[in-house]
Amino acid sequence: QPTALSGLPAGVGEALEAEGVADLYPPQEAAVEAGVLDGESLVAAVPTASGKTLIAELAMLSAIERGGKALYIVPLRALASEKKAEFERWEDHGVTVGVSTGNYDSDGEWLATRDVIVATSEKVDSLIRNGAPWIDDLTCVVSDEVHLVDDASRGPTLEVTLAKLRKVNPGLQTVALSATVGNADVIADWLDAELVESEWRPIDLRIGVHFGNAINFDDGSQREVPVDRGEEQTARLVADALDTEEDGQGGSSLVFVNSRRNAESSARKLADVTGPRLTSDERDRLRELAEEVRGVSDTDTSEDLADAVERGSAFHHAGLAAEHRSLIEDAFRDRLIKCVSATPTLAAGVNTPARRVIVRDWRRYDGEFGGMKPLDVLEIHQMCGRAGRPGLDPYGEAVLLASDADTMEELFDRYVWADAEPVRSKLAAEPALRTHVLATVASGFASTRGGLLEFLDNTLYATQTDDAGRLEAVTDSVLEYLAVNGFLERDREGGTESLSATGIGHTVSRLYLDPMSAAEMIDGLRDACAVAGDAAAGDAGVDDAASGKYERSVPGDGDEEPGFGTYSPVEGNGDGTEAASDRAGDDSADADAATADSPPEITPLGLYHLVSRTPDMYELYLKSGDRETYTEICYEREAEFLGDMPSEYEDVRFEDWLAALKTARLLEDWADEVDEDRIAERYGVGPGDIRGKVDTAEWLLRAAETLAADVDGVDGDAVLAVRRARKRVEYGVREQLLDLAGVRNVGRKRARRLYEAGVETRADLREADKGVVLGALRGRERTAERILEHAGREDPSMDGIDADRSASAAAT
Ligand code: ADP
Repeated sequence: QPTALSGLPAGVGEALEAEGVADLYPPQEAAVEAGVLDGESLVAAVPTASGKTLIAELAMLSAIERGGKALYIVPLRALASEKKAEFERWEDHGVTVGVSTGNYDSDGEWLATRDVIVATSEKVDSLIRNGAPWIDDLTCVVSDEVHLVDDASRGPTLEVTLAKLRKVNPGLQTVALSATVGNADVIADWLDAELVESEWRPIDLRIGVHFGNAINFDDGSQREVPVDRGEEQTARLVADALDTEEDGQGGSSLVFVNSRRNAESSARKLADVTGPRLTSDERDRLRELAEEVRGVSDTDTSEDLADAVERGSAFHHAGLAAEHRSLIEDAFRDRLIKCVSATPTLAAGVNTPARRVIVRDWRRYDGEFGGMKPLDVLEIHQMCGRAGRPGLDPYGEAVLLASDADTMEELFDRYVWADAEPVRSKLAAEPALRTHVLATVASGFASTRGGLLEFLDNTLYATQTDDAGRLEAVTDSVLEYLAVNGFLERDREGGTESLSATGIGHTVSRLYLDPMSAAEMIDGLRDACAVAGDAAAGDAGVDDAASGKYERSVPGDGDEEPGFGTYSPVEGNGDGTEAASDRAGDDSADADAATADSPPEITPLGLYHLVSRTPDMYELYLKSGDRETYTEICYEREAEFLGDMPSEYEDVRFEDWLAALKTARLLEDWADEVDEDRIAERYGVGPGDIRGKVDTAEWLLRAAETLAADVDGVDGDAVLAVRRARKRVEYGVREQLLDLAGVRNVGRKRARRLYEAGVETRADLREADKGVVLGALRGRERTAERILEHAGREDPSMDGIDADRSASAAAT
């Protein structure tokens, strides 16, 4: 076997053997034969858990051994850290690993020193736009879960990003990992890659449908699982797996349901099944875990999750905080949590195998469809693929649920026997092309209309379509939009039409904004300044164009939240220095004065509404009764809106306006120090959603600030108002706490308690009585010391500070 693995860094073959990789799995073998160790491009379309990651590692490690550099593109932010941790075991063999997520860096220059870089496709896209110098050095790129090019909201970014990387580096080895899809050959064709396609699994998977008193499996076998009167099918199946011991232990289950609410209620119910089956040792460990869960945040979600965890059950969905998710995933892998009820997001990446997968819901509510819509075959197959833990289970079982014989037939036809759908490019849509056409021109990938079309010819869309005219038509209408809004200049001379990005167009591209968001924000700010009478009276082209073409991109999956795993907004320019000067200049007296004497003042709500109505902010949907509530608020606060409110008769636009108002109110509540729990309840969202909205608002307001400084017609007061609104949402505090909350480790709740105790500013922290500080921080000495240190106190030590005194101070 070691001979098969030549060309890897010294010691890697032995390390793999030590990990239990005695032989390559057949698809891995096929990948090696196809030349993955020699720089060949490859599409590997194989089932979940059949060793795709190792194929990627072989490609990357051999590329590095040849002196190259590799990039691993993940679909979710949560996966980036997981993959980085996985690849870090190669550091013993001299391979360095870096991860680029979030918004810590603008061009990720430090990554130039790393051999392997892990990032989401959005992050890679933004790094290219910001001119990351190491992009040119890449010799190997891996695209994980490449079948997601099919996703309407995120697929086009992956498609264009791969096309750009391949254009910059003509010899680039491209390794694309895919679930088994209907047309892997087309993907291979697009990427000029060899194809390895296989149905092989390391552990047998049996798929069946439970109906009546048995699971009927695809191989014709049956397993008796009688369901008593009044008992639920799911509960019975979870109990059955747990009661069947293999290897001295019962089997865990993963239950897929169609909404967060259902995940939570299912976890509660299934705790009645798992709870009584725990050993006393497990009960102790779970109690500890539940405490950790409670410690993550002070919310109902946290409490509900902890209650279930105590009894060996849990829920998992995109509304959870990241810490919650990883606690649950780890404990499930450690077989401590016996059953997880999850929304389909869990199926998409995170490695959480279970003995039994139960697909409880195979339909999900779809607003556009106008009712319950069956899930894609691919999605169901990916859920089923989570069944079976190699080395632990003799086989994996995936079970769909039917309540009658007809449904059982339907489920067999629709999912068990069916092949996954083919993947189809979603690039030829205006929202996708708007942003990618601007970025493609701004970062120099095309400078004429012809060059642009030629570039787009390297996408999956071009490989797949028979109708080249459609992409051209959408491209033309997008070019028109970008030109009218002042982001692009078009120059028709002779037969060629040259294209160049304007200054503001470059800024929009680097800020990673949808150009329509930028137009909306510029328009709103100019409007506010014009009303205030401060701005030069100019009727810039932006005005009409932005409002004249009102449309929104629709999120593909209500479970996905930007800023929570999918999005990678980039920092504005010159960020590091700005933060420091900000704090100094942000004293609240100055702030009050600025707002007091400009008559139609720009309020935080007005700004939150402005950013909430851009296509970059995911909508909160209006629930029943919301229309009335928000219509009322809408009229009450009409004066605060930036830009013209649509009339009630413009149905769609008015509805969108109200939905944005709902988001804006959420942000306003957050900035008014309303409890996270109250907010979650009031808007029907989870703590993870609040985080997502807050992060997105912060990013958009930062972008708005940069834009405001760049365009005509927006004055300095407006820029200040944007900055204050942004900082209030960033820290989640009122104006008076901005200074305190800016100190590291303080946060909104501690800032309030310090303020109430008379410690009102950063300067106060340097002078205050330590007992008072400790009291306000509920006697937490380490925290108090760290905070004092960050506030710049000379001697932050809490040694000898009286705990009783601090306790009594806290009581006041
Ligand atoms: P995928 O990415 O296809 O979903 P993974 O790469 O996560 O699957 O592999 C699933 C598991 O199989 C991992 O725990 C991995 O360590 C293990 N594995 C991969 N290849 C081999 C091999 N050749 N021999 C033994 N175990 C392997």
